[in-house]
Amino acid sequence: MGNVDSLARVPMFNRIRNWYVRQLVARRPIAEPLWQEALRRCAPARRLGATDQATLRVLATLFLESKSLEPVQGLDLDDAGRVLLATHACLPILKLGLDWYDGWHSLIVYPDAFVPHREHTDAAGVVHRTADAMAGEAWGRGPVIVSWADVLDGGRRSGHNVVVHEMAHKLDMLNGDANGFPPLHRRMDRRAWTRAFSGAWDRLHEQQRHGDELPIDPYALESPAEFFAVASEQFFETPAALRQHLPEVYRLLEQFYRQHPY
Ligand SMILES: [Zn+2]
Repeated sequence: MGNVDSLARVPMFNRIRNWYVRQLVARRPIAEPLWQEALRRCAPARRLGATDQATLRVLATLFLESKSLEPVQGLDLDDAGRVLLATHACLPILKLGLDWYDGWHSLIVYPDAFVPHREHTDAAGVVHRTADAMAGEAWGRGPVIVSWADVLDGGRRSGHNVVVHEMAHKLDMLNGDANGFPPLHRRMDRRAWTRAFSGAWDRLHEQQRHGDELPIDPYALESPAEFFAVASEQFFETPAALRQHLPEVYRLLEQFYRQHPY
């Protein structure tokens, strides 16, 4: 991907009319060794065909130019780490486009799981202080936060991808609060979405009550928003398992992400 001519063969790139963007990607593409390392560490990207990989590389280049990656607490985030984060982050929008990530700027990276200390007051006027260690967090109009340890761990824990998880929350919040209902495409059936997700939700809760082992990380049952984010992780990381156990959910995620990972 060293020049504009080779980029012109990438379908998505042809749609980018902006001359400045073309020049930017052509002059400052992700270097080949860094890209190869990202593919090695990101299984869903490795499984893509050559054309999709080239598109992902363009998106990751633009992601790194348009977003601010901010390591904190002394984390040393090198170029390979930045490219890996951008590669994970651009998987969900491979067929949607980078403008689905408009409206926010910062990706904050903690060295390890972080403990946000915050208080909220419930309906009875009781103030709760939460102090659970978190792998990631996405704010409505604000930054995305991830733990670098969990990013690295994702490759080892089957079906997990903290970056995809937080990006799914971001997509979900494009039409208001995170509620497991992102803005669907025009031809998608809103009722089919609600039916599939709430049906799967009910069945999983039932299985959980019986003490059965769940086919998805139980964290999915925290809320509809978490269900969508966790299912999205599995959609990209272990699509065969999601398709087998939650076929309707898998099919709708195919329509939403416009990808067919399995
Ligand atoms: Zn979440």
